[in-house]
Parts: sequence; structure tokens; C-alpha cells
Amino acid sequence: NAKKSGGNRVERYCTHMNEEAVHRFEMGSSLRKAIEKNELFLCYQPIVDVRTGAVIATEALIRWRHPELGLVRPDEFIPLAEETGWIHEIGRWVLQTACRQTKRWQDITGNDQLAVFVNVSAVQFQHERFIDDVKRALKRSTLPPSCLHLELTEHSMLRHLSSTMRTLDELKRLGVGIAVDDFGSGYSSFHYLKQLPATILKIDRAFIEHLHANASDAAIVSAMITMGRGLGLETIAEGVETPEQLERLRDLQCSYAQGYALCPPLVAEEVMAYMSERQKERQ
Ligand code: C2E
Ligand code: MG
Ligand code: MG
Ligand code: MG
Repeated sequence: NAKKSGGNRVERYCTHMNEEAVHRFEMGSSLRKAIEKNELFLCYQPIVDVRTGAVIATEALIRWRHPELGLVRPDEFIPLAEETGWIHEIGRWVLQTACRQTKRWQDITGNDQLAVFVNVSAVQFQHERFIDDVKRALKRSTLPPSCLHLELTEHSMLRHLSSTMRTLDELKRLGVGIAVDDFGSGYSSFHYLKQLPATILKIDRAFIEHLHANASDAAIVSAMITMGRGLGLETIAEGVETPEQLERLRDLQCSYAQGYALCPPLVAEEVMAYMSERQKERQ
């Protein structure tokens, strides 16, 4: 009897796995077509100078407008893109689109310092062509290398440490910025941080969430900012959702902030309006 019910369980498990596998397969093959069918697009979230309120950059965030599923978020399809290898083509498209768009904004606004932050997955970063992809995106868009910042999580930087170091050093030589994304959320070790040729720390939003109410979080954020300054790194606070958090960050002398309190991710067409609005407020 026990054997029988065990069998059923296996069967149910298999059926479930099949459905799951079919779903993934379908998602995978439609992801392959998503680029050519123009279903992928980028949103841009402004990154603001905490002291002056000026927009200094945006972070490019990918979205997938799926014909049946509707809007699919990156957390749902980037892992799949990594498994299937489509991440390289997608990543290339993200780099080119973000660089071209930012150069366009620079030309319109006359602000040739306006930068863009592009998320890079560990798998994409390990590819031998990655440096060439970056060079090509810069060359085609004519965006200055200093206006491009690549975001990697600590976790992805520490994977294959020695090859990562080589790639990071080469990117640094190109003049491209390196941001440590979700800083503090992984297994960060000061030993590695000292060696990484990073230029910016993005403080994970988990530390920002209770910044105004929790003394430990405030102490940690303060220490991260101070440490960053000592290491010659700028700091960006992620996920700033309230004016109180922003106020605390100003007190702590955090350089930059991003989050819903300032602006949600926008479609490209909305970004210019937001930037001119901010500009007007500052005058
Ligand atoms: P991330 O790079 O840490 O991006 C920040 C995420 O927080 C974004 O989610 C953004 O929409 C969201 N966010 C911004 N402000 C706030 C806030 O005030 N509160 C809260 N709760 N959330 C906020 P999104 O766009 O869903 O992206 C999720 C993750 O997907 C990103 O995390 C990044 O790791 C990855 N990703 C996004 N675009 C790309 C891409 O082009 N390539 C790769 N490889 N990964 C990407
Ligand atoms: Mg990011
Ligand atoms: Mg982040
Ligand atoms: Mg993240």
C-alpha cells in the first residue's frame, strides 16, 4: 500500500515537472524570438545627486512585453536567458540600446556627463566576447566610456575570481565604471572588495528600508559610505522610498540615490520630461 501511494506521488511529481518543463521550454523559445519581435524594451530609473537634486544618470532596467503573459519582469526571465544562453544576445542589445539612448539625451540636454548604469549578469560577463560587446556599443553610440557604468553583484564578481579580475581590469582601462550592485546583500568580504577595481558601491535597498527607524541600519549605511569614501568609491543608495530616508542619506553624506521617492523606472519617452522638471526645480 505504501509502495502504491509512493508510486502515485512520483507520478504526480513527474506530471508536475513536465508541466514546469513545458512552460520553461515555451518561455525559452519565445524569449529567443522576443528580440526580433521587438518585445524587449528598457525602462530607465533616474539616479539623483543627493546634495543638489540633479539627475546624474539613469539605470537601464529590461522589460519583456510578452504577447500572452503581459509584462514580464527581469527576475522571471533573466535566469532563463542565462540557462539557454540567450543572455549574450539580450545583453548585447541592452548595452547598445542604453548607450545609444544616453548619447541621444546628452545631445538634447547638452549635458555630456549624463551617464547610464547597465546590469550585467555573471554568465554574460564570463563570455570571451563581452569586452568586444562593450567596445562596440561605445563605438557605435559614440558615448564616452566614462558615461557607462556596468553593474555586477558581489556574488557574480566573486564567481571565477581570477578571470573576473582580468575582465574588470580591462574595463577599467577602457574608462568604464564598475558598480557593485546590491552591496551588502551577498557574501561580501573586505578582502575581495579591496582587490576589486570597482568605482561605485550601490547599497542594497534592504539597508535603506528602515534607515530612518533602525539604528543598526543607520550605522551600517553610515559605515558603508565612510568606507566607500576611504576606498575612493562613490555610493548610491538603492530603493529610497520615502523623503525621510532621503533626508537621512543627506545627513550621512551619501553621494547619490535612486528609488520610488525620487522616481520610478520610466519608459525612455518620459525621461526627458522628468529631467527638465528637476532642472526647473533647481533653478
Ligand atoms: P537591480 O539591478 O538591483 O535593480 C533594482 C530593482 O529595484 C529594479 O527592479 C527596480 O525597478 C527596483 N526598484 C527601484 N526603485 C525601487 C524602490 O524604491 N523600491 C523597491 N522596492 N524597488 C525599487 P527590476 O526592474 O524588476 O529588476 C530586477 C533585477 O533584474 C535588477 O535588480 C537586475 O539585477 C536585473 N536586471 C534588470 N535589468 C537587467 C538587464 O538589462 N540585464 C540583466 N542581466 N539583469 C537585469
Ligand atoms: Mg542594478
Ligand atoms: Mg540593485
Ligand atoms: Mg537586484
